[in-house]
Amino acid sequence: MAFSEFHGNSPIVRQIREMLARERFPHGVILAGPAGSGKYTLATMVARAMNCLEQPITGGLPDYCGRCSNCVRIAQLVDLDTRVAEAVEAREGLKETEKKETRLFIQTHPDVLVIPPDPPQMMIKVDQVRRVIENIYFRPSEGRERVFIFTDAAFIKEAANSLLKVLEEPPEFATIFLLAEDAGELLPTIRSRSMTLQLRRLSLPEIEQYIAQQRPEWKPAQRALVAKLSEGAVGRARTFDLAAYSAAREHALTILRTALHSGEHTELFKITETYRAGVEGREKTDLLLRCIYSLLQDLLFLDSGAPERVRNTDVLPQLQKLAPEAGFEWLASASERLAEVERGLRRNLLRSLSLDGFEAALEKN
Ligand SMILES: [Zn+2]
Repeated sequence: MAFSEFHGNSPIVRQIREMLARERFPHGVILAGPAGSGKYTLATMVARAMNCLEQPITGGLPDYCGRCSNCVRIAQLVDLDTRVAEAVEAREGLKETEKKETRLFIQTHPDVLVIPPDPPQMMIKVDQVRRVIENIYFRPSEGRERVFIFTDAAFIKEAANSLLKVLEEPPEFATIFLLAEDAGELLPTIRSRSMTLQLRRLSLPEIEQYIAQQRPEWKPAQRALVAKLSEGAVGRARTFDLAAYSAAREHALTILRTALHSGEHTELFKITETYRAGVEGREKTDLLLRCIYSLLQDLLFLDSGAPERVRNTDVLPQLQKLAPEAGFEWLASASERLAEVERGLRRNLLRSLSLDGFEAALEKN
């Protein structure tokens, strides 16, 4: 592993490495960019470059070896979803009183701390920032730089205010990464004390080229489809599960058809039974929601006479049939109504999942 394995956004990667070379890395860095653009991957790469014991130079700029004990331990952070799931599970195993006081952190190296949003609210909480404050003024123990990575921009208000205090007086040996889909989600005062680096989406040819390297076994039509569906996000392209997506999209089509014909619910009930509560059900529901949004967007493209922009090209005939039934007004408001149901669902993740709610939100009458 090395910086050369980061795909896209080469000007930003270069800028980062130049700052490392000058040993003038900012203490607060906002890595902004769409989901899947590689914000977290890049932050962990910088953490490795800052702490690598071999400190290799490639292309005249600092890199990391990927083999030394620091690189290896920091690399264990890379699979964030798994690490978070483990941390959540560990907390579930605690006594009720301890559970309440335990906040989520991911740490595989003493000098690098990852702070994910804390479920079920999925916000960064004040106790998490407090832990950062307690930690940040200690000198690195095994590396050269202490790195803190907040993986989400959703901060509870007091948490954001506490963070602001650290950003005002950070120790010289610490770097705080704030990852955000939109830097505007962060307080202006936090933004003004940090450097914002904006990652962009990759172009369709860039993504197609990347997929061709990663998934040589895929047929060209599958590659083209996944490139479109990844929407310029390398992370999404890399992990794209075409089979799961196709299954979820079938369900999404059923929901849309049921909503537009507001009649027969039998098929919908059958599908609902396959969605369970808990982490697995949540992932499945998230995918289903993404599919519904994606289909709604494609229907809007068809409705506005831009069929070339449709992403779900393999179900185009079905979409063409649905588009006139849907109509512009319904399409324009359907996503908003769906988003409302989704917010309700996020507020209470333990509530049993009901696809009926999605269908009802979309129902045309
Ligand atoms: Zn190394």
